[in-house]
Amino acid sequence: ALPASEAEVQVRADDRAHVFHSWSAQALIDPVPVAAGEGSTFWDYQGNAYLDFSSQLVNLNLGHQQPDLVAAIQQQAGRLATIQPSIANDVRGELARLIAEVAPEGMEKVFFTNGGADANEYAVRMARTATGRRKVLSMYRSYHGSTATAISLTGDPRRWANDSVDNGTVRFFGPYLYRTAFHSTTLAEESQRALEHLEQTIQLEGPNTIAAIIIETVVGTNGVLVPPPGYLQGVRDLCDRYGIVYIADEVMVGFGRLGEWFGIDAFDAKPDLITFAKGVNSGYVPLGGVVISDRIAAAFDKVSFAGGLTYSGHPLACAAGVATFEVFRRDGILERVRDLGARIVEPTLRAWSEKHPSIGEVRGQGLFWAVELVRSKETREPLVPFNAAGADAAPMGAFAAAAKKGGVWPFTHFNRMHVAPPLVITEDELVRGLAVLDEALDVADSYTD
Ligand code: PLP
Repeated sequence: ALPASEAEVQVRADDRAHVFHSWSAQALIDPVPVAAGEGSTFWDYQGNAYLDFSSQLVNLNLGHQQPDLVAAIQQQAGRLATIQPSIANDVRGELARLIAEVAPEGMEKVFFTNGGADANEYAVRMARTATGRRKVLSMYRSYHGSTATAISLTGDPRRWANDSVDNGTVRFFGPYLYRTAFHSTTLAEESQRALEHLEQTIQLEGPNTIAAIIIETVVGTNGVLVPPPGYLQGVRDLCDRYGIVYIADEVMVGFGRLGEWFGIDAFDAKPDLITFAKGVNSGYVPLGGVVISDRIAAAFDKVSFAGGLTYSGHPLACAAGVATFEVFRRDGILERVRDLGARIVEPTLRAWSEKHPSIGEVRGQGLFWAVELVRSKETREPLVPFNAAGADAAPMGAFAAAAKKGGVWPFTHFNRMHVAPPLVITEDELVRGLAVLDEALDVADSYTD
């Protein structure tokens, strides 16, 4: 093996010369070379350790190098590394059954994909075929993935450069009391007005043209927006009234992030299709999918489903998914997420918001929280403008740099910092990481009015 310093030079050189990176101006980035990871921590080649408060891209729910997942992949590789999707396979079937067992009642079938974006593509395709309609409604402030229909559904600036790839998409405002689009003053008002707005959108777009409404159960990257009481049940009712398919995008919140198998369990609403990815196997091998209600599945009993992927239900990915269920159950992952969220994260963040002038609002559930940073608590002006880049984003950059200097890898997006550590983070690590973020928030405070 090369000495660490030489290895780092080689990794950086190969990366800069040959790896074309996502969502980046290639000449303006300098990706950190990472040497290794374990649990909630990863290391660079200089030996600097980072406690990952972002779970990579909010997918590493069971942390790095979880021994049971690694062993399951190794064993599966030794048995049968791959097999095409039209063949029945033991781990593929077992994982589909395990998922159906924790999904809401009446959702027995699973279509596997390679990740979250294609899960949403296929959910929309199923809804379009089953209804014979084309339009799909999604929220402003949402992310549904980067492929053609998924990016067209997305309600954030990542869509702008890809607009109209799928012209059958329409956006509406979801509930977000802190920056309400409806002049609401209470959660109940926000919920009711957001539903009235959605119903008007449906009527003005033409109910008979709308195949589906897709909603992140808790909006993820765009702000950890927890739906107010009654909202998702209201969406269900509207879908029933107008014959629209309700798709819950659980790519980020599924598999434990909220302390539930599926986020929807926390909100008592029943979608027709649930899309998942990330946490299903912590991203050890790419995997996503669609959980399908019996009613929609029946539409394809005698009519062929027109869609597929060479790697649908890849055995290595499914083996890691089966092991995920075993670890969740053996180690009480859902219970510990609820406990750590309620006992440590929530009170800590609420106490911060009393003392840090830069904190406008904190919100979340389980191990999924947002701290929304502002110039002034009174005006609620965001600490950096919407979609800020370069010099405009400097205050968030300075906050993130302070967190990294303290050994915490933070999740930041526009004017928000999210707390989304691996679900296996120890209590000590959680407390230590929060203390670093607390200190880094002093940097954000220095930019307030
Ligand atoms: N949907 C949501 C809610 C997501 O957060 C993401 C990714 O961050 C996606 C879909 C897309 O998933 P993938 O990157 O696996 O395609």
